[in-house]
Amino acid sequence: MGLVMAVVLFFMRRSYPPSIRGLREWTWGPLFCFLSTVMFALRGVVPDAITVVLANAFLFQGCVLYYAGSQLFLGRARDTRRWTAINVVMAVVLAWFTYRQPDYSVRLAVFTAAVSALFVAHARQYLRHGVRDFDTLFMTGILMMQATVAGVRCLSALGGLAGNDLLEVTWVQSLYIVMYSLTALFMSIAGVLMATDRVRVEFEFLASHDPLTGVLNRRAVLDACETELARCKRQGGTMTLLMIDVDHFKAVNDTHGHLVGDDVLREMVARLQQALSGQGVLGRYGGEEFLALLPQTDTAAALSIAQKLRARLMQSFQSDTTLAALGLQPLTVSMGIASYQHSMETIDLILARADEAMYTSKALGRDRVETKY
Ligand code: GH3
Ligand code: MG
Ligand code: MG
Repeated sequence: MGLVMAVVLFFMRRSYPPSIRGLREWTWGPLFCFLSTVMFALRGVVPDAITVVLANAFLFQGCVLYYAGSQLFLGRARDTRRWTAINVVMAVVLAWFTYRQPDYSVRLAVFTAAVSALFVAHARQYLRHGVRDFDTLFMTGILMMQATVAGVRCLSALGGLAGNDLLEVTWVQSLYIVMYSLTALFMSIAGVLMATDRVRVEFEFLASHDPLTGVLNRRAVLDACETELARCKRQGGTMTLLMIDVDHFKAVNDTHGHLVGDDVLREMVARLQQALSGQGVLGRYGGEEFLALLPQTDTAAALSIAQKLRARLMQSFQSDTTLAALGLQPLTVSMGIASYQHSMETIDLILARADEAMYTSKALGRDRVETKY
């Protein structure tokens, strides 16, 4: 199973974007576990140094790799050197209790205690991360179960119930071996599920957001408008669209270049978002044109929101920013307002009115708000 999961992950990894981290470690983890199983199976054929000491070291390192993969996947730095050091020390201890003072129970107790601690640390990583979707809970559950089974087996070894070697049949031993096989399988499945879900979330975000400013893109904000319009028709109430066009924006590009223009746009959007503070949804309609959807807002309320936006945009750039260093003054905007009127209304109709109102603002000298009923 370890080998199969390693192969599956190896090929899946190639179809994931590099932003999904940890997959390489999740590929090596089951491979190490597989190699350790082969070594365990060679007991009696090759020296104990391989079938006991090295086999356990590989198994533990496989679990460490799974852990490293999780750390990377959760956006942390890989921090498993301590566990690798524990593994090295443990190899020496296991060698001692294989050659100098052969004792299966002690070896078992030492190894399972370390495994249990590692899985507890691994599970804690997910608990602290705080995400509670199915995939993450699945992963956390498996980790805690494995920690428990390894802990029980450690206690059984300390209590003299270890048996004489790995292949002797006792119920704790059987449970441990079954759990060990399932853990390798389930952890890989959980990893694939989590990675797939992460890709879906990333792609959905990319498909609905403007990469420059981070607000909704045109399609997404229009979708939101349609949803709100349907709600108005179903439940009554009203909604308002606010069309926003930056005044003389081309001049910024012409004077300072497009990169500075981009910075200005980002700054303006941040200010608009701030001033909207949850009262509406902002989207990028086109170049330097933005559309704010104001749900459950009538024209009068929208007018005061629009004035609030203008006031925020007017504030000068903070002195420590590049925009201030360039001597740039804040840009103004021209806005057009149109509200939901009657049940035959469509988004295209409201948009057309908001657009017309915005052009009236431009014609009347810019830096103002106009309404079209
Ligand atoms: P007006 O007051 O009439 O709206 O004047 P304006 O200069 O803002 O209008 P115009 O439509 O002539 O120019 C808009 C400019 O916005 C043209 C285009 O190059 C620029 N623009 C559109 N999108 C971006 C962008 O993403 N980044 C940068 N830097 N410029 C952009
Ligand atoms: Mg424009
Ligand atoms: Mg403009």
